Amino acid sequence: MNITRRNFLTTAAAGALAHLGGAPFAMAAAVPPELDAGYPGGNVRIVSREGDTFTLAPDLRDTKGWWFYFNFRLRGPADQPVTIRFADADPIGVRGPAMSSDGGRTWQWLDRKAVLQSGKKGSSFSAVVPAGAQEARYAFAPTYLESHLREWLAAHRANPALQVSELCRSRKGRGVELLRAGSRDPAKARGVVLLTARHHACESMASYALEGFLTAVLTDDEPGRRWRERWQVIALPFADKDGVEQGDQGKNRAPHDHCRDYNAAPLYPEVAAWMKLGDSLKQRVVFSLDMHCPYLRGDWHDRVHFVGSPAVAAAEKEKAFAQMLERVRRGPLPFRAADGILPHGVAWNTPESFRAGRSNFCWAGDTFSEARFTGAIEIPYADARGVEVNADAARALGRDLACAVLEHLEP
Ligand SMILES: [Zn+2]
Repeated sequence: MNITRRNFLTTAAAGALAHLGGAPFAMAAAVPPELDAGYPGGNVRIVSREGDTFTLAPDLRDTKGWWFYFNFRLRGPADQPVTIRFADADPIGVRGPAMSSDGGRTWQWLDRKAVLQSGKKGSSFSAVVPAGAQEARYAFAPTYLESHLREWLAAHRANPALQVSELCRSRKGRGVELLRAGSRDPAKARGVVLLTARHHACESMASYALEGFLTAVLTDDEPGRRWRERWQVIALPFADKDGVEQGDQGKNRAPHDHCRDYNAAPLYPEVAAWMKLGDSLKQRVVFSLDMHCPYLRGDWHDRVHFVGSPAVAAAEKEKAFAQMLERVRRGPLPFRAADGILPHGVAWNTPESFRAGRSNFCWAGDTFSEARFTGAIEIPYADARGVEVNADAARALGRDLACAVLEHLEP
């Protein structure tokens, strides 16, 4: 019996063999690999299965058009590879798929050499449960879920400069975390810095950067002390909490997504509550940064950049802050102010892209007109000018951003 046939004996066939007296050998070898997405953040549509080849597609749900988020689990015998094929379009980025062998807690890029085929007609790669593991998860990029935030919060539980509360309940009744870090004394704090991420649920690398930013505010060093003496950060880590946990694409959600919901009557509880909080802090907000990830690959999508505002005054502020980030950057991800702002009117950053509704950063520009910066940053999923983007690199960028904000506010 060759190895391929052994792998794909069905359970029923194994049972029949056991009945016929072939139990010891057949029972051990008869468990076929199984693939599913039934866990927080999971997303995949199994189009078909033929032998050891699974044909899959991102589960688009209420997305208008195509998007690339997938996150599935492979369970079964270790060291027995299967072929994963995406037939219609290619959701694999410049460093291949990401793989986790610890249940999605940590991830590594498999790199392009793991990709068997790629292009406009689809892509395929080889997936396997590693030796010693029960399962492996594969996704288009490292994921970041509530469980990741919980782990970070647990590590900082004893820090008096961190406060966790609930902004609101999501549509599905999930608690939406609101974090305050830095100065806790409103009389002493010189101002408030707002941070948001995951208006588009799949944009996970932004969360690692947000984590790095907050860690810098809480760290016992000179910048951390300045943060805690003078400034308060208020952060909304999951602006689309349901989308993150359900494993939605989030981007281009119908009728409009969370980042086009900053209108007179917001659809989503998180946005409504954040706008209300913003209104109550109007005079105190000095900086507002909305953190995103771009498209999968190509041109602007493979570099850290800011989204140029259509408003001249806000665009000037972006330029000044971008220059500060370039000056203070220490982490591995390159950033150049000269080509680190996607001007309004270029690529996707056109009036057409905002027809569906007002974005977070346009709302912030309108609401906090005296602030030193009201903008959005795009952090690539996999590659920034040839440098690998991963959890630690994104965290380091978050720290660089925290230092840049500090220097920008205290010239
Ligand atoms: Zn986004």
